[in-house]
Amino acid sequence: MREHFELRATDAGGRLGELTVPRAGVTVETPALLPVINPNLDTLSPRRLAEEFGAEILITNSYIIHGTDDVRERALEDGLHELLDFPGAIMTDSGSFQLSEYGEIDVTTEEILEFQRAIGSDIATPVDIPTPPDISRERAADELETTQERLEIADRADTGEMLVSAPVQGSTYPDLRETAGRHADATSLDVFPVGAVVPLLNEYRYGDMVDVVAAAKRGLGADAPVHLFGAGHPMMFALGVAMGCDLFDSAAYALYARDDRYLTVRGTHHLENLDYLPCSCSICAEYSPDELRELPEDERESELAAHNLHVTFAEIRRIKQAIRAGNLLELVEERARAHPTMLDGYRTLLDHAAQLERSDPVSKGTFFYTSQESARRPEVLRHHERIARLSTPDSLLLTEADSPRSDEYDDIWRVEPPFGPFPRDLSKSYPLTAEVPDRTDRAALEAAVRGVSRLVEANPETDVTLAHRGWPADVVARLPERVSVLDVAGDS
Ligand SMILES: [Zn+2]
Repeated sequence: MREHFELRATDAGGRLGELTVPRAGVTVETPALLPVINPNLDTLSPRRLAEEFGAEILITNSYIIHGTDDVRERALEDGLHELLDFPGAIMTDSGSFQLSEYGEIDVTTEEILEFQRAIGSDIATPVDIPTPPDISRERAADELETTQERLEIADRADTGEMLVSAPVQGSTYPDLRETAGRHADATSLDVFPVGAVVPLLNEYRYGDMVDVVAAAKRGLGADAPVHLFGAGHPMMFALGVAMGCDLFDSAAYALYARDDRYLTVRGTHHLENLDYLPCSCSICAEYSPDELRELPEDERESELAAHNLHVTFAEIRRIKQAIRAGNLLELVEERARAHPTMLDGYRTLLDHAAQLERSDPVSKGTFFYTSQESARRPEVLRHHERIARLSTPDSLLLTEADSPRSDEYDDIWRVEPPFGPFPRDLSKSYPLTAEVPDRTDRAALEAAVRGVSRLVEANPETDVTLAHRGWPADVVARLPERVSVLDVAGDS
């Protein structure tokens, strides 16, 4: 077990946890947002991030500090916490991003780790190689080898109480990401950023992002805190958390503000196009869009950054509450409706339903069927697995009818889309207490048919009859041939 990370609750792949940061003497509740602070630009002061926004942790770039003479001297002399005036935990990046942008940097992993330790960083980062998406497999594998050598150097370095992150690379090759995750997990390093996803996010490739994270997670242990490096738009946090990410960093709140862009959980607006402010944070309560537009540039930037950060932290709190309440996937479904590419992300998440099922609690609140994607949720998959293990009598009626009319069967079970069949004594247990719409859809019916098929295949000796209410013929045709079928649509 990793001693510094504890899970408190889970929902789908999402986790509520506690990351203990010994050098800072603080425990950070996860999922957590790390605002990015540029040591040379003070859009919102770190003190204000802590006091007004409740930031428990932030991230800054040790490479920029290292390369800026006066800042470096002050960091070495007074320490990072005093330099930034921040009471929480401080994570530092290493210059890997600069390496990916400019092709070279002038520090080694040993040097930058030693520097991060010297300035009082609480979580340091080695110089990994942020391998971009879609490159040749050969290059991805070569660069991964270099990243792994750097992690081994970091693993051997004397870093004292400072935690050290172990970035997981591998481009868009799931098997390389999984191998990278397994290698990183085998080190004694502490925090696991899934690296180089920014190019995917910039192109709205949320489906590919989910595949990359899912692969890294297969290699990492459940006790590994995972950081989705560079993912700062609140629109995709719920998706990232549901896939098992615990830490997010946001430079977006400040970068977007610089361009007069206004963040919401459903996307980004340009201030120019807003007639109303769809938010009730302190900034949006104080100003009208016209008043914001009329502010001097500096002030407008800082007020917009404050709004952007309020929205971002609010989404993190909403996600934590959703995990607590057991309705994280309902939140992901809502967010998936904001943009077609988010829907791709959610649909890809459901491709990994079996992986999510392992951490999904057996019982939670009430399952809400809110879209056809709900039919592919891990709970439905788990019910189908369970169906195959239930014992059945010689003859069995599965029926959608409220009052079964027959006593010619040994037993009568309910059948309900999307779950399929279940004995009546399970009807009060999760997820069969689900709220489903009266007007069901094809995806739910097809899932119910999969459930009936599992039951029939697992019990070749049982005679099964299905009484359904007007299911389309081509859906019913997917049932195994030996199921007798009755349409009870006209019955009450
Ligand atoms: Zn606001």
